[in-house]
Amino acid sequence: MSTSETNMTHIARRMLSAKAEQFTESVIREMTRLALQHNAVNLSQGFPDFAAPKEIKEAARQAIADDINQYAITWGAKPLRDAIVEKFASTQGITVDPEREITVCCGSTEAMMSSMMAIINPGDETVVFEPFYENYGPDAILSGATPRFVKLRPPDWTFDERELAAAFGPHTKAIILNTPNNPTGKVFTRAELEFIRDLCVRWNAYCITDEIYEHILYDGAEHITMARLDGMRDRTIVINGMSKTYSVTGWRVGWAIAPPETTQAIRKVHDFLTVGAAAPLQQAGALALKSPQSYYDKLAANYAAKRERLLKILTASGFTVYKPRGAYYIMTDIFRFHFDEAKYPADSRDVSFAKYLVEHIGVACVPGSSFYNDARDGASQVRFTFCKREATLAAAEARLANLHA
Ligand code: GLN
Repeated sequence: MSTSETNMTHIARRMLSAKAEQFTESVIREMTRLALQHNAVNLSQGFPDFAAPKEIKEAARQAIADDINQYAITWGAKPLRDAIVEKFASTQGITVDPEREITVCCGSTEAMMSSMMAIINPGDETVVFEPFYENYGPDAILSGATPRFVKLRPPDWTFDERELAAAFGPHTKAIILNTPNNPTGKVFTRAELEFIRDLCVRWNAYCITDEIYEHILYDGAEHITMARLDGMRDRTIVINGMSKTYSVTGWRVGWAIAPPETTQAIRKVHDFLTVGAAAPLQQAGALALKSPQSYYDKLAANYAAKRERLLKILTASGFTVYKPRGAYYIMTDIFRFHFDEAKYPADSRDVSFAKYLVEHIGVACVPGSSFYNDARDGASQVRFTFCKREATLAAAEARLANLHA
């Protein structure tokens, strides 16, 4: 074959996967890069900028010193799986089998991806509440699921029962739930969960429930795992991890709790994707998960104060805020700002506004469109996070004072 023929073959052949071409880089992580580039206060990506607990860091150091430095069992070090069992039993009253129902993964991100790849077949549909955490879009594309979106509507982010029921059907393989919810701060009530449960049972569907913010709750809100509801134990995949509860988002230790047969499939996918999560950090996780109740109470109380602080800052700056009942984000509406139509077209106002904010005001947020399938649905919204030190929030306050509604 001549060189030019080889080139022709390359050009004619599709060199990138159609799946990878269907989604963009993460907007949330891109906003963090922009924040660094513009020296802006970063209220975009949800990671704490304060220190992780001393004891947990010490446990990780000790694990390395003790030479826990080789692969852990692919589905998770035994002490961590045992600690997950104990914690799930004490917080939610459910006893799972550490040998057959837990897969420790590289963060809840991988736990979600491995779970989807373990259960999705071509033609399967997943029901996804919208706005949704941006990963769920690519998760669907990569696993081959067709997402069916159902709106959560402000100010309370409730859903229309008829709309949800209509999204389920014979092709529904799973509903993706995230409670407490990112980005809205919604905490699903027992009645809402029961309504979802009935649909899952009726259509023989899984519920994949991302519960990473389980301990970050306000105003007496209660976290109820879907796995606790009658009829759901055998069709629920619980996704959780260390990141948010122990302020170690960079450790990448998460897990999936699922019935034995499902777990077998998840473990196979996980094994060939990543082999396993960092062994010494899993060891430290076993200690972290045994933290006393006072640790979780303090975590929630600290975030409650930060929530009040950022709600006040944003309100004073002209944003319309939706008060979260859980997690550490505030969704806002920017309709009260006066926009120059030429510079801020209504269809993508969130993106140009976020860009203006990071470049000219020096504060980074996440454009609302990254949480919607149709970008226009989020064009009037932006998300801020408050998992930050007081100094960071104060710096944001000072800079946002230059923003005029
Ligand atoms: N969950 C966090 C957020 O929504 C961080 C996500 C990530 O970048 N992995 O901002």
